[in-house]
Amino acid sequence: MASIGVVRITPKRPEHNMKMCPFQAIEIDEKGYYYINENCRVCKMCLKFAPEYFFWQESNPSVERKGSIAVFLEWQNGAFHSVGYELIGKALSLAESLHDEVVAVVIGSQLNLLHSEIRNLPVQKVYIYDHADYSEYRIEPYKNALLDFVQNCKPNVLLIGATPLGRSLAPRVATACRTGLTADCTELQMKEDRKLIQIRPAFGGNIMAQIKTHKGTPQMATVRPHVMKALCTEVKGNPKLVYRCIDESSRASGIKMVQSRLKPIASDISQAETIIAIGRGVKSKEDCKVIFDLAEKLSAVVAYSRPLVEAGWGEPRFQIGLSGKSIQPKLLITLGISGSVQFSAGISGAEYIIAVNSDLNAPIFNQAHLGIVGDLYEIVPLLTECLTMKLGRYDHEEI
Ligand SMILES: Cc1cc2nc3c(=O)[nH]c(=O)nc-3n(C[C@H](O)[C@H](O)[C@H](O)COP(=O)(O)OP(=O)(O)OC[C@H]3O[C@@H](n4cnc5c(N)ncnc54)[C@H](O)[C@@H]3O)c2cc1C
Ligand code: SF4
Repeated sequence: MASIGVVRITPKRPEHNMKMCPFQAIEIDEKGYYYINENCRVCKMCLKFAPEYFFWQESNPSVERKGSIAVFLEWQNGAFHSVGYELIGKALSLAESLHDEVVAVVIGSQLNLLHSEIRNLPVQKVYIYDHADYSEYRIEPYKNALLDFVQNCKPNVLLIGATPLGRSLAPRVATACRTGLTADCTELQMKEDRKLIQIRPAFGGNIMAQIKTHKGTPQMATVRPHVMKALCTEVKGNPKLVYRCIDESSRASGIKMVQSRLKPIASDISQAETIIAIGRGVKSKEDCKVIFDLAEKLSAVVAYSRPLVEAGWGEPRFQIGLSGKSIQPKLLITLGISGSVQFSAGISGAEYIIAVNSDLNAPIFNQAHLGIVGDLYEIVPLLTECLTMKLGRYDHEEI
């Protein structure tokens, strides 16, 4: 493949020639020489305006090299956040068809305690930034470490969990790399040209936008926990470990950690095994009593669509969907929920969905494994009675 070659001489006016490229493809390496990054569209402007530095070459193995998909593994309180494993699972499937490599990057302190977990990650390489300065999350050292990783590993794609930490870190890294970032993706696909299709609801959920990063690398996306399927624990690898250290000034921070306290863990629908989700089909809050009776029989947690949370029927932590929680229960029963794009974004991880809706054309039936077309006010008491009389205790196998 023909491409742009670079003469290895120190440029006189580096900034000038970097700005000349309309695709931000000209950069300076650590030795002060120009190099061409993956943004190059071979427009040949640089050949015309700075022929002393750039030339046309018929083949460039570095352009034809394999791509890599990187996953940032969040570490806190001695363990990896589960979203990291979910992203590795997705990265492995994205990399499969192009035979790209999957790499992970970990930033933290005393990471030797996680040695066996790191050793077993099913990726080709793990970049490790292990220093006491990373014991607490402070944006500058974490951002600088991740930037060092991007510069050294040059991943084509960088995936980060949309946790509070990830939401703080990802946009800062994307800005520093002058690349794009799509937040809260609900699906990711890889094209043959290694363009990542970042899919998420947009324009109030009226469309599922397919977003591409045209300029800039890596192509960055965040994904919320429990949206992608968790990696099977039996999948193990033997990655090469790359220990990296950035200089002291890059690990410094203007933020001083005075004290940190663990937030009490409130019960969370994202971990619940059985969930009954109710929506606007339930006419009044008082009507919820029959639903709570059913929930008790099933040992289920009751969750809500957004309009009911906004009406004060339940706390926001019990809201399912794009602006609520993503769930992965074994069984989800939806009652009087239409199945809007925003609600559906939170239930893709549910193993088995039973939907009750009086409207045969409700979109929720497209996602449900078992659809019951009917009035929930008739069906819920019947279900409760059936469970009380016949099953006694709930058993998944009998559904
Ligand atoms: C940026 C943005 C983010 C959003 N985030 C979320 C989110 O995180 N979660 C969320 O839920 N929504 C979210 N929404 C709102 C979303 O667009 C929908 O408005 C909402 O999901 C609809 O909730 P619903 O299904 O309860 O109500 P409706 O859409 O009104 O559906 C009610 C359903 O009940 C059925 N029904 C009525 N009576 C009965 C009966 N007696 N028996 C059986 N069925 C009956 C009807 O046929 C209907 O399908 C968001 C919107 C925006 C713009
Ligand atoms: S060919 Fe065009 S895109 Fe590529 S480095 Fe030169 S100016 Fe930039």
